[in-house]
Amino acid sequence: MARNILVVAEVRNGQLRPVSFECIAAGRAIAEGGSVTAVLLSQADVDGSELIARGADRVVLVKGEHLKEYTPDGWLSALQQVYLAEKADVVLMGHTGIGRDLLPRFAMRNAAGMISDAIAVKLEGGQVVFTRPIYAGKAYVTQIVTEGLIVATIRPNNVAALEADAGRSGDVVQSEAAPVDLRTVVKEVVRQAATGVDLTAAKIVVAGGRGVKSAEGFKPLYELAEVLGAAVGASRAAADAGFCDYALQIGQTGKTVTPDLYIACGISGAIQHLAGMSASKVIVAINKDPEAPIFKVADYGIVGDLFEVVPLLTREFKAL
Ligand code: FAD
Repeated sequence: MARNILVVAEVRNGQLRPVSFECIAAGRAIAEGGSVTAVLLSQADVDGSELIARGADRVVLVKGEHLKEYTPDGWLSALQQVYLAEKADVVLMGHTGIGRDLLPRFAMRNAAGMISDAIAVKLEGGQVVFTRPIYAGKAYVTQIVTEGLIVATIRPNNVAALEADAGRSGDVVQSEAAPVDLRTVVKEVVRQAATGVDLTAAKIVVAGGRGVKSAEGFKPLYELAEVLGAAVGASRAAADAGFCDYALQIGQTGKTVTPDLYIACGISGAIQHLAGMSASKVIVAINKDPEAPIFKVADYGIVGDLFEVVPLLTREFKAL
């Protein structure tokens, strides 16, 4: 059965977020001859060609002053308008801050089934089957929407995006969003200065826990991260202790990361931390306690003092 897929693409700091390309790849995998349309609701300066190169057949750039910053009513109304016009059977978006807020509202508006935080999607016996983690990543469940519209958010870094093909062609169309009486308006956005690599999109993450002991203690982690082109993350204990900003927190109540390489330094491996990083492809743990639970999920474990091991790693990687 051919399905029309609608992917809600997102832009951050002027760049399309990689999860948008991952959603397009997920859409392609289940379209069965249907079309994949990407929609951009933000007023970003993006022409849509990159979305076509990554597998979209069509891009809808929605214009509207009220869409500049995310508001639930503004974006929901614009998405609903595009959804009805495009006659989509499946609506996908990244499991990002906005995706988690917008798509459940959209599913509710359309009385549709909602799959949240999927890490895989495939066709099985003609049905669209999603896999998602439950119990903070301790188990996985496969789910289907039994009838009607399918709405799903996809966890970043789990579905492989298609290689960019500059030779692909597709339509890029503009659409005007109908005016909405917003119940909330964004007065001002104060952005934190962007530092280094985006944590949720990083291919390598160097994370520090309570074992790092102080803000100063994060310095060797930043040095290693710089050599590796990695982002720095943290456990909640490190953020709670004021060693770093909460924006770095990884885990159940922080960010979810799935890099190719996760280096945990002075992190014990509490279940709430594992919930945010256990799907990383390769996990390296540095901990001076050989009984630390993090070693149970680690592919490589180094029992030692992080203040000795991390600078050694930095030196060795620098020498490569
Ligand atoms: P600790 O558990 O104190 O571990 C520190 C580790 O450092 C120890 O294993 C120690 O051996 C090692 N160490 C010490 N010194 C050194 C050294 N010099 N070299 C090498 N190793 C050293 N936690 C999160 O991380 N993210 C979350 O999102 C999160 N959400 C939560 C939500 C709820 C509802 C609750 C109840 C808790 C949550 N937590 C979360 C907290 C979680 O339970 C743990 O308390 C926290 O993850 C522990 O952080 P840690 O591993 O850095 O600290």
